[in-house]
Amino acid sequence: MKKFALITGANKGIGLETARQLAMNRMTVFLGSRDPDRGEAAAAALRAEGLDVTAITLDVADDTSIAEAAAKIGAQCDHLDVLVNNAGIYAAGSASSTTRETLRELFETNVFGVVSVTNAFLPLLRKADAARIVNVSSEVASLGIITDPTSHMWGMQDLAYQASKGAVNWVTIMFAKELADTPIKVNAAIPGYVSTDLNGNTGYITAAQGAEASVALATLPDDGPTGTFWGTLTSTDSDEKTTAPW
Ligand code: NAP
Repeated sequence: MKKFALITGANKGIGLETARQLAMNRMTVFLGSRDPDRGEAAAAALRAEGLDVTAITLDVADDTSIAEAAAKIGAQCDHLDVLVNNAGIYAAGSASSTTRETLRELFETNVFGVVSVTNAFLPLLRKADAARIVNVSSEVASLGIITDPTSHMWGMQDLAYQASKGAVNWVTIMFAKELADTPIKVNAAIPGYVSTDLNGNTGYITAAQGAEASVALATLPDDGPTGTFWGTLTSTDSDEKTTAPW
């Protein structure tokens, strides 16, 4: 049976590479982008590589856009095998400098977007044989790592971003628990410190490398885990992918 995947925020960065790698896995990919032109340009570039990719306009901070995207995809396929909640934004700022407005902005996209998109696509995901949901989190959201004074991440203090990704972890656990008696697996991906626009291209690894955790979790076998927090940990000085403490 043909396999279908949707990746949000896939017009560039880790999302674009996730789209490329899933399409190379012979999936039919819906490349989510809040801007139609940026999405079409990215999808056209992947199609030029011979990949089966269609752009879909999807602003994860807008429920109307989410509903329209779900209707459009529902009209093109009768099930969805993979949802990667990848879209995300970053803001620097310590606790004492963080405003309500910044918190709202980051939570709208990074957290509320994940819940709204997942719920909008759950009916299609339930129709797949064994769907996979991947929520792109970050090691900077790990309470275990961030509270460890010996961790490389100890100095990281960006309240809105870290709290929003911490909430993504909660969202992952809650969906994994609720769907535990279904074939659907829900996991949180840790890309590593990836060179993208999000961090002014200061990351240590490429977007293609950063996409590997999402792709592995999106293609888990039936005996794979659910409700885990897994990927590349910059904090360990190792290239190995591993499970992280929540
Ligand atoms: P990026 O290059 O800035 O890409 C972010 C993507 O999200 C873009 O396509 C952006 O679209 C999209 N986006 C933002 N707000 C959106 C919205 N409301 N609706 C739909 N799409 C939206 O950053 P990235 O590094 O690839 O980030 C991808 C994910 O990885 C994020 O969740 C990020 O938090 C996470 N992450 C990144 C790193 C890292 O080191 N880079 C590490 C850990 C986790 P536009 O082009 O329209 O802005």
